[in-house]
Amino acid sequence: MTGPERTTAILILGLVCLIMPVVTWVVLARQHSRVVGLWCGGYLLCAGGLGLIGLRGDVPIWASVPGANLLVFMGLLASLQALRLDQGMRVRPGWLLGACLGYLVVFALLWLGLGKAAIRIGFIALTMLFLQAQVARSAWRIGRREQSPGAMAIAGCHLLLAITMLLRLAELVWKGGAGSAPPLVGFGVLTSVGVLAAIVGNVGFIGLALERSLKRQLEAAASRARLEERHALGNEIAQLDRQRGFGLVAASLAHELNQPLTAILASAQAARRGCAAKRLSHAQSLKLLDKVILNTRRVSDITERIRGFIRPALPDPDLVDLGKVTREMLDLVTPDLRSHDIRVAFPAGTPPVLVQGDAIQLSQVVLNVLRNAIDAAQQVQDRSIQIQLTQSADEALLRIRDTGPGIDPGVADRVGRPYFTTKEEGLGMGLSISMAILGQHHGGLLIGNAEGGGACVDIWLPLLAGGAPCPT
Ligand code: ADP
Repeated sequence: MTGPERTTAILILGLVCLIMPVVTWVVLARQHSRVVGLWCGGYLLCAGGLGLIGLRGDVPIWASVPGANLLVFMGLLASLQALRLDQGMRVRPGWLLGACLGYLVVFALLWLGLGKAAIRIGFIALTMLFLQAQVARSAWRIGRREQSPGAMAIAGCHLLLAITMLLRLAELVWKGGAGSAPPLVGFGVLTSVGVLAAIVGNVGFIGLALERSLKRQLEAAASRARLEERHALGNEIAQLDRQRGFGLVAASLAHELNQPLTAILASAQAARRGCAAKRLSHAQSLKLLDKVILNTRRVSDITERIRGFIRPALPDPDLVDLGKVTREMLDLVTPDLRSHDIRVAFPAGTPPVLVQGDAIQLSQVVLNVLRNAIDAAQQVQDRSIQIQLTQSADEALLRIRDTGPGIDPGVADRVGRPYFTTKEEGLGMGLSISMAILGQHHGGLLIGNAEGGGACVDIWLPLLAGGAPCPT
């Protein structure tokens, strides 16, 4: 290769080393990090060094010889650090500075002191060989760990460059720098492999970053899908539990429905008989019709309560008055309470205690706890349930206490775990579902024995900010 050809080859290599990191930086615009910065910065330093070498004769000698080589050295060092940083290794600026200074001192000594070009070229080739081999090693490690073709491409092209350097070095040592025959691994081969390494290395780097981002997106999508699936499954279980809970009170509700329906039938029959015998006054007819209307409303109220409870939960949180929810659930279990002669104390006229959540799911929690309290209270003579709803600065607390036998200390730590039940017909899911629902609402449930006997369940939920204060 002639002098001008060499200059052109070096400048072309410098240009490629300038364009490729810019392309990398632009393509990875959304993923800029220290690693990307170091990688691209490293290539730009190499481009600067190669440019100075290419412009030798037009720039001061100190810039085109030691300055240029130092820039290339620093550039390779930065690319190596980028890959090391990517593997979680620490970048030690002190060491890097020391390495650059050491390189400069040795280079200057060889350049000024010995003045032998072959030794200087050998030193340059040796350091480049070492750094290229290190870059290839780091990239190979990343590629092996992440099964990344991008990282393997970086490793491959830098290994090729290192091998080329090694051959060049071997040739230099073999010929002792004195041979007149053109070298086998000449400048042309070296710059061509350099151009290839710069292009493939940067494309590989972009590939590695994109593979990772794709992997991250895939993982995020998969975990979102898993979460949604779990959520859907949770909702389904909660819905089934609600229907089961309703099934448990359905028999007594049927009895409650029977009363107004029988009253409607009786009023309608009385009206019919009176009309047939023509002995029904206008006022009596109106009275019978009023009874029909009143009882129809009662039926409608009961069916509305049932419909509201068993419909699927709403996806969006709502404003929920915990007092209203408790009262509605008490209405739902009233027939049960009556048939088992259980007294309920729940102070009337409590101001609204507002929380944010799903009214249906929260109703389910209250119903589960009430059902357990009813089951427990049935087992004793003195049957009662006390309900208290209070609120502190940021929390609503619903306390449901019964006079049942309480929780056996031997099983206390298992109560609330899925499938734990002491009831013959129990599923052992009520409390765990309730806890899960409350967890989703950033609240919780605690069950324990009350002082003086019976069990006590505390349900707490974060208050809606700015909710109406309630005297406790
Ligand atoms: P299940 O009602 O189907 O048994 P739960 O999860 O609602 O399922 O309750 C689990 C267990 O917790 C009950 O079987 C019972 O042993 C205990 N438990 C819950 N509430 C009370 C209570 N108020 N008094 C005594 N034991 C209770």
